[in-house]
Amino acid sequence: MKKTATEIINSGYNGDSHSLARYHSINPPLYQASTVLFENYAELRAAGQGQYEGFTYGTDGSPTSQAFEQAMTELEGGFLTKAFPSGLLAITSVLQAFLNSGDHLLVCNSVYGPVRRFAATLLHRFGVTTSYFPANAGADIEAYITPQTRLILLESPGSNTFEIQDVPAITAVARRRGIITAIDNTWATPLFFQPFQHGVDISIHSVTKYISGHSDVLLGTATVTEPCAGQFRKLCRALEIVAPQDACYLALRGLKTLPVRLQQHERAARDIASWLQGQRGVETVLHPALPDHPEHALWQRDFTGSSGIFSFVLEAGYDEQAVARFVDRLQLFGIGYSWGGFKSLVTAGRFGQSELSRYHGRWMIRLNIGLEEIADLKEDITQALAAL
Ligand SMILES: *Cc1c(COP(=O)(O)O)cnc(C)c1O
Repeated sequence: MKKTATEIINSGYNGDSHSLARYHSINPPLYQASTVLFENYAELRAAGQGQYEGFTYGTDGSPTSQAFEQAMTELEGGFLTKAFPSGLLAITSVLQAFLNSGDHLLVCNSVYGPVRRFAATLLHRFGVTTSYFPANAGADIEAYITPQTRLILLESPGSNTFEIQDVPAITAVARRRGIITAIDNTWATPLFFQPFQHGVDISIHSVTKYISGHSDVLLGTATVTEPCAGQFRKLCRALEIVAPQDACYLALRGLKTLPVRLQQHERAARDIASWLQGQRGVETVLHPALPDHPEHALWQRDFTGSSGIFSFVLEAGYDEQAVARFVDRLQLFGIGYSWGGFKSLVTAGRFGQSELSRYHGRWMIRLNIGLEEIADLKEDITQALAAL
């Protein structure tokens, strides 16, 4: 018999969660919602006045994202975490939350590249000036600070070149001068570096990498201290950026296996990095856990481990054709951006992001070491190096 539209709309689950059977899945449910129902007019009115405690609309997230954000807050040891649809959006939202027209932003020169584009376009347009300081500045950061400096953005180790920053030295100067510090903590994950214990105010992750861990999720987080929470919440409310709930679900699931995955990534990458140092064509391997890395002592002092991505610089004399031959000969390494997943990946190019970098203008190859057998990866790299 044909059912009416009204019967279809009101059949089965009707938005009253008390009508559901008692059911405790080990993972939180994946909620997909724009509308969230209120019990009565009084609740609706409270929501309209900003007095309602619970979720009022899909842009507040859901218990799924809340579970993930809560986990990140606990792991980072912060006060409040907000998930964003990507790592870059987490960074740019933090910058928008704390910078005003007329402010100066100070950024480490080894920062994730697209941040430069955001600073040069949108921040510039809204009257925020940006300058860059050498990743190894340490307490000399003082020389780069102006009376207008409002926020310092760190990333340690830096993208592609893996310089380690003296975070406590920098945050000590920043605190004295009333400047907020934020760090991109993606490489270390919450397991290997604890930003809040080193005086940082805001910790940012591209969850896209190790935390989700399977190269199928784009997600970011920013975790802030209590004094920063009010201003950060205000921006999040104004933008109403909400992370995809399925991505939050997958990220929380990824988090549960992060320690065992990282253990293998760390072991394999350290093994391959130190082995690579002796190979023909390889001038320098840029991995903070190697004893001859320029800031190895800082890494040893502040970090409790290393992850699976590093770069190496080719000996002088090799050209782009040689780089292309190496990359194209690799069998087990996918050619592609991003990292932190199970499959090994390679990117390569002439390093030109920053003239402040000691590697400016050099041919550089970046390896993301996945979860394959270490011996197989070495064999693959060996045969590709022969093509140099
Ligand atoms: C990938 C990456 C980002 C950006 O993350 P997305 O989720 O890809 O937007 C930010 N910082 C670092 C260090 C990264 O490697």
